[in-house]
Amino acid sequence: MIRVAVAGALGRMGTEVIRAVSSVGDMQPVAGIDVKAGVESQGVPVSADLRQAVAQVKPDVLVDFTVAEAAFANAMTALELGVRPVIGTTGMSAEQTAQIQARARETRTGAFIAPNFAIGAVLMMHFARLGSHYFDSAEIIELHHDQKIDAPSGTAVKMAQDMAEAHAKAFASNVPEKETLPGGRGAEWQGLRLHSVRLPGLVAHHEVIFGAQGQTLTLRHDSTDRTSFMPGVLIAVREVLKLDRLVIGLDNLLGLTT
Ligand code: NAP
Repeated sequence: MIRVAVAGALGRMGTEVIRAVSSVGDMQPVAGIDVKAGVESQGVPVSADLRQAVAQVKPDVLVDFTVAEAAFANAMTALELGVRPVIGTTGMSAEQTAQIQARARETRTGAFIAPNFAIGAVLMMHFARLGSHYFDSAEIIELHHDQKIDAPSGTAVKMAQDMAEAHAKAFASNVPEKETLPGGRGAEWQGLRLHSVRLPGLVAHHEVIFGAQGQTLTLRHDSTDRTSFMPGVLIAVREVLKLDRLVIGLDNLLGLTT
């Protein structure tokens, strides 16, 4: 039985994680960590102190869906205590990720970060890398609910990084260009433009549009419900036990390579 603690236990994603972990036979939720402590989430006690919770319930894995600063601190503490972090929280800096990587290496403890746990989104990112071998121009549009803090989304940023790496040189941007309102062309990464839409009614949606002479190719993924992320989270909880270092991206657990 894999013992799972959930940070952000009272949040939208944390609530789904506790439900998903409870629904399978090989794992159980043993603790919740959240700002508001002293309550229960689906029968799981929630505390504000990760160290204390680890000492009490000895989890194997800490699943984290909180905010970037908390996720970083939680991961560093978890690794120090021999608990494997599975991080879904987005918005951590490259420096914070590098520190988690170093701590995982030093402690020879498995750790996992995924900007997107939805299998369909991971496949879209895979196809986007593939398309980047053949197209010189592309733009990314991400659309999310209006409570999302960070922009662009972690998925959009990771996809841009992967696409730039696959393309092996900067993508071509339109020239000439004049922004009549600052920011009109969105954020820029290696010639790729990233656009963020925030509206009530949305959940998590990503679109990549490749363009070339006389043709466009559009890839789109829609998460219409947070349950879409749960199969990926459960895979990560099982697989992180076999790791002795940090792995980033569900594609690496599914054997997807381009
Ligand atoms: P949410 O509903 O705001 O939940 C976050 C929870 O974490 C809240 O209960 C919050 O408490 C709590 N929290 C804040 N600081 C904390 C701390 N220091 N220690 C413990 N708990 C803390 O947000 P959400 O929609 O669930 O999203 C959470 C994160 O997951 C975001 O970064 C989002 O981008 C990411 N996400 C990732 C994926 C993926 O596939 N990787 C999918 C969806 C979302 P308060 O409300 O009291 O501050």
